[in-house]
Amino acid sequence: MRKKIVVGNWKMNNNFQEAEELISTIADDLDEKEIVCEVVICPPSLYLEMASDYAEESVLFIAAQNVSSFDNGAYTGEISASMLSEMEISYCIVGHSERRKYFNETDSQLAEKVNRLLDNNIKPIFCIGEQLDERENGFQFDVVRNQMQKGLFHLNSDEFLNITVAYEPVWAIGTGVVATPNQAQEMHSYIRGLISEKYNDSTAEETTILYGGSCNSDNASILFSNKDVDGGLIGGASLKADEFVKIVMSC
Ligand code: PEP
Repeated sequence: MRKKIVVGNWKMNNNFQEAEELISTIADDLDEKEIVCEVVICPPSLYLEMASDYAEESVLFIAAQNVSSFDNGAYTGEISASMLSEMEISYCIVGHSERRKYFNETDSQLAEKVNRLLDNNIKPIFCIGEQLDERENGFQFDVVRNQMQKGLFHLNSDEFLNITVAYEPVWAIGTGVVATPNQAQEMHSYIRGLISEKYNDSTAEETTILYGGSCNSDNASILFSNKDVDGGLIGGASLKADEFVKIVMSC
């Protein structure tokens, strides 16, 4: 049976003390509960080591928000997959719409990031999703298919089993406008179909597909109750411990 996962993406928020308080509160709360999904926290890079230390003693897994597409060398400001792996980082977000938009990350760079992570035994959480005008013009499936093909479909089926896909309609990220359960289910089922077409049914059935975009404790359980929605990638609502824990408990 495929894994259910809830991922908290803190983005560039919180100072060190706030980050430490947040992760320790989440870890303590969850340690007292019976949870059925994997819980992953993505702090800013400078807090990865601290977060990793907390994770060791808890149910939490830690993810990076970004990685270099290069192995190592003269790339000022970059952090390599092998450096993340030394910190025992389990997952890394790739292709978040904010990185595609503000840092002009291209499909081919994203495919290279996926390769670097897999070379270092870190699991990519690969983000895809259409813009509002693309949905309004009926192109949402074409956009998502193209992103899957260019970013992931160079992998063989064994490699693909390490991928978590996050469907994040760009119009829903940080806007308070959430996809309807039907819109989410329709796209998740389409994505699973693409994986089955490219690889096979069992690879598609094994792949965790997360929903992201204005997910909160009020809408999480209805979204997660869809057959092809295997959890969530949570931005704003992951910055409040009680809210994030409620979302985890909805999974
Ligand atoms: C995100 O940043 O991936 C995200 C889903 O953000 P939010 O939950 O704030 O919409």
